[in-house]
Amino acid sequence: MTEQPRFYLISLGCAKNLVDSEGIALLLTQAGYRQAEAPEAADVLLVNTCGFIQPARDESQEVLKDLIAHRHAGQKIVAAGCYSQYRPDELAAAIPGIDGLIGTRRWIDVVTLLEEMEHAPGNKKGPICHPSDVPLAREDTIGYPRLAVQGASAYLKLADGCRRTCAFCAIPLIKGSIVSRPLEEILADAQLAVESGVRELILIAQDTTDYGYDLGPAYNLARVLEELVRAVPQATWLRVMYAYPGRRQITDELIETMARHPQILPYLDLPLQHAHPNVLRRMRRPSNVEEMQRTIAHLQAAMPQIAIRTTFIVGFPGETEQEFQALLNFVEDTAFDRVGVFTYSHEEGTPAAVLPDDVAPEVKEERRRRLMVLQQPISLAKNQALLGQTLDVLIEGVGEDISVGRSYRDAPEVDGMVLVQAESPVGEIVPVRISDALEYDLIGDPVET
Ligand code: SF4
Repeated sequence: MTEQPRFYLISLGCAKNLVDSEGIALLLTQAGYRQAEAPEAADVLLVNTCGFIQPARDESQEVLKDLIAHRHAGQKIVAAGCYSQYRPDELAAAIPGIDGLIGTRRWIDVVTLLEEMEHAPGNKKGPICHPSDVPLAREDTIGYPRLAVQGASAYLKLADGCRRTCAFCAIPLIKGSIVSRPLEEILADAQLAVESGVRELILIAQDTTDYGYDLGPAYNLARVLEELVRAVPQATWLRVMYAYPGRRQITDELIETMARHPQILPYLDLPLQHAHPNVLRRMRRPSNVEEMQRTIAHLQAAMPQIAIRTTFIVGFPGETEQEFQALLNFVEDTAFDRVGVFTYSHEEGTPAAVLPDDVAPEVKEERRRRLMVLQQPISLAKNQALLGQTLDVLIEGVGEDISVGRSYRDAPEVDGMVLVQAESPVGEIVPVRISDALEYDLIGDPVET
């Protein structure tokens, strides 16, 4: 290695992984590494993999294989993240050139891993695997920001892991149970982000509504929001992602807190996964559909302009056409603002793996398509209802005579955008009058203030 070793890091998967990638980069920088602009300039190539379903594992393998195919002599390759945690042997066998493996629970040991690799005689006996079964403890990350800044937005992690038992999900196997961060650490990260110019804090965890379960009754998401409102300037947007449906999670206190503070965006990402009670029971999810509807009605009554995003899984074991039809009816009746649809992926080790994966792949795909087609006119009508209104838009990019940004209705990556017919300042929140509506996106013009 050179005197100042350099690393190149690729982050795959979700925003939670991105936050871990930022943590890895910080640890390496503190240990004397420099971040390289391109893989060929690095001594160590790291991929923070995603691995909770097969397509994510395939993508992780492709990225690693590509790096190995183009690496030059002396370059070391490390696979970190969820795939390395979940199936280290499979990954090592599929990609013989990997030098080091470190699981998502122990990303904080990355410098130790690199030291071990430095003193190891090549990878002839396979990669060096850092012990990865030890769960991440609350103390492990104290003093380290759990933030990923993307332009004027930052993902802020409230907790790691998940204690739920959703039958289809491998996340609890991969990450372990919930470990909430100390509230003061979250507030310190929020202030750090705002000081660096961030205008939107996006609160994430596997289940944000479970925040504080392991800290005691005084801690919950409503309190995090209340304290964030006090800790950051009023102009900072606060957005809540990954809520769990249920009266004990979407509490009256949480809804009232969201409604009381204008800087908490009237937006909620509420993955419901299905809407037929029998499928929900098989999924080991809350199955009281009437209660789900009451929660949504309560949110809408408290915040009439609220944008609710949800996701569904189609083709879960045993899903009949009649059960799927109930989901279609539910989506039509509820008229969500945003809907994401995934086909069921059978994962070994999950509770659902004992059920037969009996919905044919083409039926899963067809149901996914039917649900998306059903939602499209609903999304369009929701967008058309905004014509003539003025929305605050956080500008994220600018070109000739056009800018692009997001309103409170759009989370980054997963929702739509607002095209602004002017060159507006990147990183600023500007009022925009909506003049045209597409299924996913809006078009508008800046309003002089
Ligand atoms: S709440 Fe989300 S992360 Fe947790 S087990 Fe269920 S689907 Fe997985």
